[in-house]
Amino acid sequence: MRIAIPRELQPGENRVPVTPDVAKKLVRMGAELLVEASMGVGAGFTDAEYTEAGATIVADRKELFSSADLLLRLNKPSVDEIELMQRGCIHISYLDPFNERELIDAFKAAGVTSISMEMIPRTTRSQKMDALSSQANLAGYVMVMKAANHLPRIFPMMMTPAGTLKPANVFVIGAGVAGLQAIATAKRLGAKVTAFDTRPVVAEQVQSLGAKFLEIDLGETGETAGGYAKELTPEQVEIQRQAQKDIIAKSDVVITTAQVFGRKPPVLVTQDMIEGMQPGSVIVDMAAETGGNVEGSRPGDVVEWCGVTIIGTGNWASEVARDASQMYSSNLFNLVEDNWCEEKKAFEVNFEDDILPGCIITHDGEVTNETIKNIME
Ligand code: NAD
Repeated sequence: MRIAIPRELQPGENRVPVTPDVAKKLVRMGAELLVEASMGVGAGFTDAEYTEAGATIVADRKELFSSADLLLRLNKPSVDEIELMQRGCIHISYLDPFNERELIDAFKAAGVTSISMEMIPRTTRSQKMDALSSQANLAGYVMVMKAANHLPRIFPMMMTPAGTLKPANVFVIGAGVAGLQAIATAKRLGAKVTAFDTRPVVAEQVQSLGAKFLEIDLGETGETAGGYAKELTPEQVEIQRQAQKDIIAKSDVVITTAQVFGRKPPVLVTQDMIEGMQPGSVIVDMAAETGGNVEGSRPGDVVEWCGVTIIGTGNWASEVARDASQMYSSNLFNLVEDNWCEEKKAFEVNFEDDILPGCIITHDGEVTNETIKNIME
């Protein structure tokens, strides 16, 4: 099977989908590996490292797309790229399938099997393929680093002959994978951390990291069978906003990571709350690119409101591209290896598998994913 790895063209993207180590493993499995020239540069990998791993470097991007049986990448393709692919080709990447009707139509028309990394189910067996989690984990770390860089204070308490500096107060909204890593990172730096999440089960995890859990009575919230939060009612969102107001005013740093899978993120920090914060405070809005948890945050940018810095730069994991590439690449490899037929030396699409069918969006000219099919109708 001919596996192709194109260069990522999205501005600000430094991660790469396949590292030289994983390239070597794919070649060892019997794949013919084609890598676009300079594909690894963003994360510091050279063409020579891929050649050494057994890959062939291809300069012509169009040729790469049209000759591939399997394409491995990070970001979604363009419609033009889909049109270059052969019928029966398999494309694995992030796809944002809930919002990409045009792309899904293009995959369908081209007869390409599209597999979405966002749709890897949250089971024990699929954890090694879970790119949302591996990248969110790094995002949690990066968000704290960014906040620390912008804050005109330090995180830890410092007792010196020149006086005592109090530890910074950090409030984390949403304690999923990214939020928990943000809590752990801020704690390691010595901050006083409080967190809130709508899933009550998270309280214990927050406390085990040495942070305080903010109790808010929202009534029934629950979580889905897949381990995701359920969307709050507008009334519950309002209760949450009011209950967080005080702690936000007292925080030096607020980090928001609240999301409900497949939905627009809730707006949890409003302008009047920002106005109540001390000038110099910092807010990091992880959800800025998908609608925002924070009023006034701007996707891809850092803005200021009443002296408060609001960071919405996004693509957080790309800031630590080397580690992020290693993790994503490993997630991809585990998915490929799990579906690899030794005999045919090829990735096999098996609709009887317990993981794969849920991640397949289109196959053989049809939208096969039930959730996405319902949205498309
Ligand atoms: P996510 O990125 O979809 O959401 C982020 C967090 O926001 C979640 O914890 C959610 O509860 C929270 N949230 C939603 N609305 C909120 C609101 N109004 N206020 C505050 N918080 C709000 O989720 P995630 O980080 O990818 O994962 C969530 C959980 O799923 C994890 O903590 C874990 O328990 C579970 N998980 C399981 C597996 C597995 O079993 N393989 C893998 C990854 C995650």
